[in-house]
This record gives sequence, C-alpha cells and structure tokens, in this order.
Amino acid sequence: MPQLDGKLGIVFGVANKRSLAWAIARALDSAGARLALAYQGERFEKGVRELASGLRNALVLPCDVTRDGDLDSLFERVRSSFGALDLAVHAVAYAKPEDLEGGYLATSREGFGLAHDVSVYSLTAIARRAAPLMEGREGSIVTLTYLGGERVVPNYNVMGVAKAALESSVRYLAADLGPAGVRVNAISAGPVRTLSSAGVSGFVGILDRVAQSAPLRRNVEPEEIAEAAVFLLSRAARGITGEVLHVDCGFHVLGV
Ligand code: NAP
Repeated sequence: MPQLDGKLGIVFGVANKRSLAWAIARALDSAGARLALAYQGERFEKGVRELASGLRNALVLPCDVTRDGDLDSLFERVRSSFGALDLAVHAVAYAKPEDLEGGYLATSREGFGLAHDVSVYSLTAIARRAAPLMEGREGSIVTLTYLGGERVVPNYNVMGVAKAALESSVRYLAADLGPAGVRVNAISAGPVRTLSSAGVSGFVGILDRVAQSAPLRRNVEPEEIAEAAVFLLSRAARGITGEVLHVDCGFHVLGV
C-alpha cells in the first residue's frame, strides 16, 4: 500500500465501526497519516472516541456539515493543532427515510434541499476550508459516491440525484483547485451494509443482485474501498484529479 508517513488528514463521516469512513481512517492510519475525525452529533461521540483511541494520536471533533459555524470551528481547531492539512475524506450523506422508498416523483422540496445540503454542498464547504491549509502540500480530497448517481437504482431516488451533483462537484472543484496542486476525486463504491445503506428500502436485494451478477461475482469489502482511497490520497495518484473511480467488483460495466 502507498505510504502516507507524516501526512495530516481529516475524515468526515465516522458514525460507527461499519462506516466506510472508519475503514478509510484505519487504512490511512496504517499508512502513516495522523488524522482528525469529525463526527456529527453527541450520540456518536462516545463510540467515535472509542474507535479513535486505536489510532495514532487522532483528534476527535464534532461537526454538523450543514452548519457553517461548526465547519469554521472545526477547521480552526485543525489549523491550530496540525498547522496544515494534506488529505480530506468526505464520507457523509443523508436523505429523509421517506425519500428512500417508493418513487422519486414524490420527493418534496424540503427533502430535496436537505439531501443536497448534507450530501453535496458539504463537499464544497469542506474543500473551500481545506484548500488554504493544503497550500504547497499537494493536497488530496476524496468523496464517496454510488452508481445510483449515474443510473436509476430503485428507492435510491433523491440520493441518486444528489450523487450526480456530487460527482459534478468533484469535476468543478478539481478544476478550481488543480492550479493550487490540490486534487479532488470520488470513489463510486459498490453496496456495503452500513447505517446509511440500511435506510435504503430493499438494500439487501441490491447486495444479492450484485453478488450474483458483478464480474467478480461478489460484493466489495470496505477494506477494498479504503485501500483505493489511500491510493487516490497518495502521491501514487498525483496525475489523477476530477475522476470517479468505481470500486464495485465491476458491477457498473454491466448493461443488463
Ligand atoms: P454511515 O456509516 O451511516 O456514514 C454516513 C455518515 O454521514 C454518518 O457518519 C452520518 O452521521 C454522516 N452525516 C449525516 N448527516 C450529517 C451531517 N449533517 N453532518 C455531519 N455528518 C453527517 O454510512 P456509509 O455507508 O459509510 O456512508 C458514507 C458515504 O459512503 C456516504 O456518502 C454514502 O452515500 C457513501 N456510499 C455508501 C455506500 C454503501 O453501500 N454503504 C455505497 C456507495 C457510497 P450520523 O450517523 O450522525 O447522521
């Protein structure tokens, strides 16, 4: 695996040990990076602190990504503790449960706005605050997306529309930040059982379908997604930006 010795990173989206953000944090830690973990709410603080105690000297900080004040305080804490930043991982998404079942047509204005605020705008809000700390350090930002942003996946609905906007944000941010040497990429992960994915109606059926028909005839493991993230965040990927890398056992290549 590429080495990240001495690199300083921030990871958004650790809720529990099943979170993809946690798999990525562990892999970054193993590769030598020092991390700040940002968690959303008090109900997760104890669990995230317990997980973080297994990492090297990690900072654990609260941040609701829909609040500019939270983001400002968080990045100020990172600046004062780390002095700079090399890596940022955005693994955050939310939509109302009622918007993740039935048809997309029923999506309310409020549900649409909420899903896009949490799951899309947050990447831009984070990138804008991370970029000054990454100046002159070949910074790298990675977000997580899903095939539902490219194709229709039953029940994924407004989250699919949000993932399409997220992938477009990756391209625009890559263009904006590239001249400063900062890269922005996405991993389109295959389905993995987590707190968020459990909220998508019929998710178990999706796991079964992928295992039966993906070219590799199985579902992806969180560690495989994490190692791809380490690659994109490392110097090994220094020529790659604005990219959406599928880590899904090949499922996205299928037509029928
Ligand atoms: P997860 O463990 O539930 O992680 C989602 C994270 O988003 C949680 O930590 C959640 O915190 C956080 N979040 C939601 N609203 C937030 C807010 N306002 N401020 C800060 N954090 C907030 O699920 P996951 O599957 O690992 O999801 C991580 C990312 O991977 C998401 O972008 C998801 O769409 C993407 N992804 C997942 C899959 C999959 O099959 N699991 C596949 C492809 C892509 P709370 O729990 O506190 O709300």
